Amino acid sequence: MDACIFCKIASGGAKATIVHESPDFLAFEDIHPQAPVHTLLVPREHLPTLNDLRPEHAPLLGRMVLAARDIARSRGIAERGYRLLANCNADGGQAVFHLHFHLLGGRPLGAKLCS
Ligand code: AMP
Ligand code: ZN
Repeated sequence: MDACIFCKIASGGAKATIVHESPDFLAFEDIHPQAPVHTLLVPREHLPTLNDLRPEHAPLLGRMVLAARDIARSRGIAERGYRLLANCNADGGQAVFHLHFHLLGGRPLGAKLCS
């Protein structure tokens, strides 16, 4: 997917502050952070949304969640808490159509899940 910014970052064709690399996914800092910690976890495969996941992606998703947990620990926010989420399509507020998880933390995020 030549036009996809996250594919470009994954292939080294666009810049990002990469904080983790695995064979099938990577993590980098969000360019417009909404919290002191705002990291994106992105599969290398171009999957537009959560709706495109297939059963064979389950191990990948598990590794991504564990990596998010490890990043939260390494950034010192694991005990205070953080949020891990994925937006899907228009009502979910998705802007970049390459599946990604947001890891947010470093300040109280509140109990409200949406506005
Ligand atoms: P979403 O609304 O879930 O699709 O979120 C997309 C996220 O990608 C937003 O938080 C953007 O700030 C972030 N983003 C967009 N372009 C880049 C980029 N080139 N590098 C890092 N983060 C980006
Ligand atoms: Zn992509």
